[in-house]
Amino acid sequence: MSDLNELYQEILLDHNSKPRNFRKLDQANHTADGYNPLCGDRISLYLQIEDGVITDVGFQGVGCAISRASASMMTQSIKGQKLETAEQVFDQFHKMLTEPDAELDYDQLGDLETLAGVAEFPTRIKCAVLAWHTLRAALEGKSDGVTTE
Ligand code: ZN
Repeated sequence: MSDLNELYQEILLDHNSKPRNFRKLDQANHTADGYNPLCGDRISLYLQIEDGVITDVGFQGVGCAISRASASMMTQSIKGQKLETAEQVFDQFHKMLTEPDAELDYDQLGDLETLAGVAEFPTRIKCAVLAWHTLRAALEGKSDGVTTE
């Protein structure tokens, strides 16, 4: 656990203990479930999309601190955004975790930047990207669920 403790920065802990948008949306028109078998993280994502804009978002689930914090930060960064913008943030976030030399737009990443240290722990990357793969599945209408495998 000592290596992992280095990842547990203040913002990450805050998102884990007080996840943003942690609720089911009854009026959601796009939903998906995601599962990361490597760690046991599960997430249900609820989106309300009107005219190409994510007007509301919520999530529920159980999982490790990284998966919860990442999901919480994701909902914060995509709420009120156009779908193209959400895709751009996903692209930036994925690059941050998988391409050490990538040029990143930290304004767009916001709190997500605090998860950059996860890149050094390959098995934890799946925890961090679970919410994002679930987002893509919801947008593509794959409500049966996705796994990170
Ligand atoms: Zn996890």
